Amino acid sequence: MTIVTGVTARVPAKLNLQLAVGPPRADGYHDLVTVFHAVSLFDEVTVEAAGRDTVTVTGEGAGTVPHDGDNLALRAVAALRRQVRGGNRTAGVRVSIAKRIPVAAGMAGGSADAAAALVACNELWTAGLTAQRLAEIAATIGSDVAFALLGGTAVGRGRGERLTPALAPATQYHWVLAFADGQLSTPEVYAALDRLRSSQGVAPQAKHQPDLDAGLMSALRSGDAARLGRALSNDLQPAALSLYPALRKTLAAGLELGALGALVAGSGPTCVFLAASAERALELAVSLSGTGVCRSVARVTGPVPGAAVVPAQG
Ligand code: ATP
Repeated sequence: MTIVTGVTARVPAKLNLQLAVGPPRADGYHDLVTVFHAVSLFDEVTVEAAGRDTVTVTGEGAGTVPHDGDNLALRAVAALRRQVRGGNRTAGVRVSIAKRIPVAAGMAGGSADAAAALVACNELWTAGLTAQRLAEIAATIGSDVAFALLGGTAVGRGRGERLTPALAPATQYHWVLAFADGQLSTPEVYAALDRLRSSQGVAPQAKHQPDLDAGLMSALRSGDAARLGRALSNDLQPAALSLYPALRKTLAAGLELGALGALVAGSGPTCVFLAASAERALELAVSLSGTGVCRSVARVTGPVPGAAVVPAQG
């Protein structure tokens, strides 16, 4: 019998091709309608049996990630443990996170790590939970965790955890990400949105019921990148720009350099550009990095699958 000592799972970052935000609910969250899209920027999470739960983080932004029970990957381990019993499943887990998804950048890196930890512990503990069961546990950890398990392109409703995969042709899109100096706190960006809306003098409950953008869905079905570029939208963008005005320059620079569309990623401050092809994405990335409007750039493609165990070598 093979004894599994360590399991690694790889998990993608997400973009929101549409992010429609409703008024604040009684519980403080906002109802969303969003179109998630998983892209080829991956964190890797390794879990190994240990005496107690610990987490180490290396890579992009590692110093700003909690190294205790607040780490979303450790929260996922604890949530899964509550659902499975017996054998080594109640023992501790050493979690090692190799980060490439920037922290607090609007790309749900923390949620991604939680999803990867769920998938990896399910394997380490030979727990055999179904994808459906893992998705239910994911939804208790955070709004974006269920999508990080699913991957691809999907419509999210509620807080983003109620998912429907988007039916679309197997088009691969080429994106350029412009990473910013610094971070934006998601709750602060939502609070700024509420302030902006109430300063417009409209009772928040009276409007802003979020709706799926039929034009965006039609663009996805057509596989036409130019149409998709024109249809990208993010209700959080004005709020992110109010907190981080320099992002206006970044967005404008990408559009001037020929991007088919541009938007702030989730709650920001990463800026996202759609390119017509891999070659155009390379040109855009090179030109953008020369303009000084961002800290660094990355080229990614999407959609890609969600969190999955990396097969052991040998
Ligand atoms: P959102 O999911 O709201 O778009 P984000 O992408 O802007 O979030 P994350 O990188 O997910 O931001 O991190 C948000 C916060 O979560 C961080 O400030 C950090 O303190 C906390 N956090 C907890 N665990 C992790 C983790 N494993 N990786 C990154 N951040 C984590």
